[in-house]
Amino acid sequence: MAISDPSTIPKRVREIQARIREAESRHRRAPGSVALLAVSKGHGAEAIRAAAGAGLTRFGESYLQEALAKRARLTDLDAEWHFIGPIQSNKTREIAAGFDWVHGVDRVKVARRLNDQRAAVLPPLQVCVQINLSGEAGRSGVAPGDLGDLTALVRTLPRLRLRGLMGIPARVTGLAAQRRALRPLREAFDALNLAGFALDTLSMGMTGDLEAAVAEGATLVRIGTGVFGPRG
Ligand SMILES: *Cc1c(COP(=O)(O)O)cnc(C)c1O
Repeated sequence: MAISDPSTIPKRVREIQARIREAESRHRRAPGSVALLAVSKGHGAEAIRAAAGAGLTRFGESYLQEALAKRARLTDLDAEWHFIGPIQSNKTREIAAGFDWVHGVDRVKVARRLNDQRAAVLPPLQVCVQINLSGEAGRSGVAPGDLGDLTALVRTLPRLRLRGLMGIPARVTGLAAQRRALRPLREAFDALNLAGFALDTLSMGMTGDLEAAVAEGATLVRIGTGVFGPRG
C-alpha cells in the first residue's frame, strides 16, 4: 500500500472538490452535477476511512482481491463501492456479490454472468459499459462499432441497470487535446440517449484531465491521486 499520510487527505478532498466546482462553473455545468468517485486502489483502509471522514461516499477499486481485503476492515462504513478495473470472467461472481456499481462491462459474456450471479436480495447492479477509446486491440473496452449491440443486450438483463458509459482515453496533455480525446465518449453517450436509452452517467475524467472531462459533460469523475496522493 502507498505511504501517504491519511492526515493529508481532508485537505486533498477539499482541493479536488474546489477543482470540480470551478470546472462546473467555468463550463456552465450545474453546481453539483459532477459526482466524485474516490479511486482508492493502492491505498489502505485507513486512507479510505479518512476520505469518508472528509465527506466522500463513493469509492472505486480496480483489483478484486485488494478491494475485498480492505472492505473486510471497513464493514461499518456506509459507502457505495464501484468496481472500475478490467473484469475477468472468472471473477464476476465476487464482483456481482461485493459491489454496487461496475464500470468496465465490455463484453456480452461478462454482462450475462454478472446478471446471472447478482443475488435476488440485492438491488440490480448499476452498470457502465466501457468503450475502447484508444483503438488499440487488447485494451479494455468494447469497440465503438459493437457498442450498440452490447448496450441493447445489457438493457434486457433484469439484474443489471444500465446507467451509462465509461472510458479511459490515451494520455495527452493540454485542455484542448484532452477534450478531443474524450469527445467520442460524450458523443456515444448522446447518441444512445437520442436512441431512447435514458442514461444518466458519463464516467470519465481522472486527476490529470478532470477539467476537460467536466467541460465535455462528465457526470462522474474518477479521482485517485488527487484524493489520496501518489500510489507509490
Ligand atoms: C486508477 C484509475 C483512476 C484514477 O487515476 P488518477 O490519475 O490517480 O486519478 C481512474 N479510473 C480508472 C479506471 C483507474 O484505473
